[in-house]
Amino acid sequence: MSTAAVNRSTTLPGEHVRIAVNKDTEPFWQAAKERRLVAPQCADCHTFRLPPTPFCPSCQSKTVNWVELSGEAVVYSFAVVHGFPGMPDLVLVPAVLDLPDAPGARLVSNIIDVAPAEVQIDMRVRVDFTAIADGWMLPVFRVGTADRIEE
Ligand SMILES: [Zn+2]
Repeated sequence: MSTAAVNRSTTLPGEHVRIAVNKDTEPFWQAAKERRLVAPQCADCHTFRLPPTPFCPSCQSKTVNWVELSGEAVVYSFAVVHGFPGMPDLVLVPAVLDLPDAPGARLVSNIIDVAPAEVQIDMRVRVDFTAIADGWMLPVFRVGTADRIEE
């Protein structure tokens, strides 16, 4: 059998990834530059609000604490994308991830360096960071935990 069908997942080339940073999201991106994953938590009722919002959806508070997370995540849902305009061999695995140390928060990211057939709901993944346009870093996720990262 051909091995061409088992391309491992990656991200779009970093120079193609541009983010829009505003005052609500900038702490997230500044932390990512330092290879730290953080989530905004309401300072009043402790609800996590990711993606970041100006007001707490539970209590309308505007006060936020940015909490540093372990980087562990669990796959809630995912898709497999084969090919991208001009990059027919590219494989992307965009995923919605639960963050066990930020209950209620979900992060949309990409799982990289995995054969798409190996990705499963409830699989444990761990954050890594990849360089993107304008000097920012993008959180991505790899299969494995702190104890056992699959290289
Ligand atoms: Zn609140």
